[in-house]
Amino acid sequence: MAADLQVIIDDAAQAVADVRRLTDLDQLRSNLLGKKSILSTQLRDLVQLPEEERPRRGQAVNQAKRQIEELIKERSEYLKKQEVHKQLSSESIDVSLVGRGQGIGNLHPVTKTRERIENFFKSVGFTVAEGPEIEDDYHNFEALNIPANHPARALHDTFYFLDGLLLRTHTSTVQIRAMQQGKLPLRMIASGRVYRCDSDVSHTPMFHQLEGLLLDEVANFSELKGLLTKFLQLFFEKSDLIIRFRAAYFPFTEPSAEVDIQCTICLGSGCRVCSGTGYIEILGCGMVHPHVLERAGVSLEKYQGYAFGLGIDRLAMLRYAIPDLRIMFENDCRFLEQF
Ligand SMILES: [Zn+2]
Repeated sequence: MAADLQVIIDDAAQAVADVRRLTDLDQLRSNLLGKKSILSTQLRDLVQLPEEERPRRGQAVNQAKRQIEELIKERSEYLKKQEVHKQLSSESIDVSLVGRGQGIGNLHPVTKTRERIENFFKSVGFTVAEGPEIEDDYHNFEALNIPANHPARALHDTFYFLDGLLLRTHTSTVQIRAMQQGKLPLRMIASGRVYRCDSDVSHTPMFHQLEGLLLDEVANFSELKGLLTKFLQLFFEKSDLIIRFRAAYFPFTEPSAEVDIQCTICLGSGCRVCSGTGYIEILGCGMVHPHVLERAGVSLEKYQGYAFGLGIDRLAMLRYAIPDLRIMFENDCRFLEQF
């Protein structure tokens, strides 16, 4: 090969080796092999050579072009590999870095309170029953000795459906269903959502109740009183908790009592939570009314029983000192994560 061609190839090899980016290589290819390149010019100038020299010179120039093309191809492949490698390393995950961690959920304060109450009653032999939230008038009122036009219905601001069904206003409906099954003696609790048209600091349209029922050949008020006293002492982890039973009226129990505990916030001196009375009403209870037993087909000769009911949300508020019932159902994680 002619010495001038070898110089062109050597210069081209150096230029190609110096290229760092694929776009620069494209530009260089155009400079080295394009129409205005030295080699292309030499091919065009072949006509000026004597005729016998033209084939040899032409072959030499074309061979130089092929050599340079080969150099560019090799460099191009090298740069492509480099780019892929660079991209991969920038996208790779460093498994040795400290992780961001996975947040673990926690139970809602109402759920925790419900489980706490249920665990106590299960430990003394009660079973847990469930019932539908959409009920009929019979199970929600009639069977519980609250006939139509009974004044107690005014206390239950009920959500009615068009077809006469309703959203249960208390969990006592589950007790009726359990009694109707007729498996006696019976020791059961039922808990769940109940509904009333009401909304303020201590009322929400949906809230949670838990009710208990015991039917046996021997059941009396002192036993009921002992059971509820023990429950409240354990629930509030206070063996000297001051509890009072107040005579009250419920259509479905006779005699009936409302149960108060000494205010856990002010310890009896009077505060906003207890409306200055020093006591907080916590549950209702009583001996099951004979009318209720009769309607459910339970033999009055053989069986008697007692029942009690409480608001789970209210107990949760007292246990965790939550001032407003409504925030429990707003699903604000900053609040819910505290329990
Ligand atoms: Zn108080």
